[in-house]
Parts: sequence; structure tokens; C-alpha cells
Amino acid sequence: MVRMLLVGPPGAGKGTQAVLLSDTFSIPAISTGDIFRANVRDETPLGIEAKGYMDRGEYVPDSLTNALVADRLAQKDCESGFLLDGYPRTLDQVRALDEVLASQGNQLDVVVELTVDPEIVIDRIRGRATEQGRTDDSEDVVRNRLELYARETAPLIEVYGGRGLLVSVDGIGAIDDVTQRIVEELARRGFSA
Ligand code: AMP
Repeated sequence: MVRMLLVGPPGAGKGTQAVLLSDTFSIPAISTGDIFRANVRDETPLGIEAKGYMDRGEYVPDSLTNALVADRLAQKDCESGFLLDGYPRTLDQVRALDEVLASQGNQLDVVVELTVDPEIVIDRIRGRATEQGRTDDSEDVVRNRLELYARETAPLIEVYGGRGLLVSVDGIGAIDDVTQRIVEELARRGFSA
């Protein structure tokens, strides 16, 4: 049973690790990016509203994002833990998440930061743009997303560090090695798969 989140810059490997950790710990992985992309693909009202922001490498407004996550966390499968990937990304989202969890009598157990060199991030994202055809993976948009991360999301690391929840893990290396590092760090904190 663990309630955790994964943070790190675009291209750090959050999505990949989220899927593997979700499997290892038998908890749902909740990726706001994936949820938005599915809505864009299905041309839902949420998708239509989110698409412009995503294509420009901007954050979708908190009003849309917070409601979406609150809804998702109220679902039954989150009762035995969850892994949030790509949320929260702003200090306002941290507050919103705190409130949602507090209203359930819960709180976060651990925050895993995936660290990577910015140069490596750009290389990875270039590869991903070719493989997956993500429309927000072009060079300009990626630069925008990295700047936004540094400005809006990096401050969260300090907040969670201050709460004693932060675990920083080197995100460079083979996928399985990174997963192993995370699993070991979690075990050290008493969360075993
Ligand atoms: P990701 O797949 O996590 O990199 O997310 C892709 C895009 O979805 C981001 O660049 C944002 O436009 C949007 N997005 C995902 N999560 C959030 C969030 N927590 N807050 C605002 N926008 C988000």
C-alpha cells in the first residue's frame, strides 16, 4: 500500500517507470498527460480545451487538471494506493492534491524525483518524437516545456523535501536498472512490493 508521486523533467522517463512501478506495487498509475492525450484523441470537450495548451508546451489550466485528478482519485481502485505521474506540477496543484487526500483522510507517502541531465532529456525527447509522433515533442515546444518545468514544477521538489517525503533517484541508465533503484529506495522507506 503506497501513495506516491513521480516528478522529473519531461523526458526523465516518468511514464515508463510509472507503468513498471504500477505493476510491481499493484497500484494504478495515473498520468494526467495520458488522460489528456486520450481526451484529445477522442475529441472530448476536455480534449478540445486541453489541446492548444499541450501543443504549445504549456500547462493545462489548474481548474481543468485538478478536477480531473480529484475525480480519478475518488475511484475505488485508488483505495489501496496509487502512483501519480505528471501531477502535481504547480504549487496550486500541490494544495489541491493535499485537500483531496485530506478529505479522504489520506496523505502522500513518498515522492520520487527522477533526475536527468538536460542534454540527455533533449536527446530522449527527440527519439520519442520520432517513435511516438507526439505533437508536443518538437524542439521549440520541448524547450518551452523544460523552462516551464524549471519555473513551475522544480519548486515542488523543495516543498516535498521539506515534508521529508522526497527520494531522488538517478534516472540515467537501463530502464530496469532505474526501476530497481526506485524499488530499493522505496524498500528502505518501508514500502515493499
Ligand atoms: P506529460 O505526458 O506528463 O509530459 O504531459 C503532456 C502535457 O499534458 C503537458 O505538457 C501539459 O500540457 C499537459 N499536462 C499533463 N499533466 C499536467 C498537469 N499536472 N498540469 C497541467 N498540464 C498538464
